[in-house]
Amino acid sequence: MVSACLLGEACRYDGRSQRSERVLAALEGKAVIPICPEAAAGLGIPRPPVDLAGGTGVDVWAGRARALTRETREDRTAAFQDGAQQALEAARRFDVTVALLKEKSPSCGSQRVYETGVLRPGEGITTALLRADGRTVVSDEDL
Ligand code: SF4
Repeated sequence: MVSACLLGEACRYDGRSQRSERVLAALEGKAVIPICPEAAAGLGIPRPPVDLAGGTGVDVWAGRARALTRETREDRTAAFQDGAQQALEAARRFDVTVALLKEKSPSCGSQRVYETGVLRPGEGITTALLRADGRTVVSDEDL
């Protein structure tokens, strides 16, 4: 399972892709399931950027943190959780063992995420859910 933006899909919040030749080369010959949890949740492309607030993805699932739009502080937590659930359903359906996801995203980050504008150690909402289900999540920055 791979973040669709890394494959060249223009699904980022700013309407751009994050196409990575390094990722594409690493995936050659492998079966790939693209996901974009935020687009799947109907948040739109482009969409306002979102930061985590009060903690990271694990804290969101524990009810201690939220996903808020950066400028207007609108709560997008439920939509982000919906996108994560859709990714988990796909992972189970296709028996995904490894997810390669985009670092620093509030959904897909696996090592660092933005919390209230500051980059800090932690994982995004989708990554936290996949890991809680026993799936391995690695960062594009690990390649
Ligand atoms: S990082 Fe994840 S949620 Fe963000 S655009 Fe890429 S696939 Fe979608």
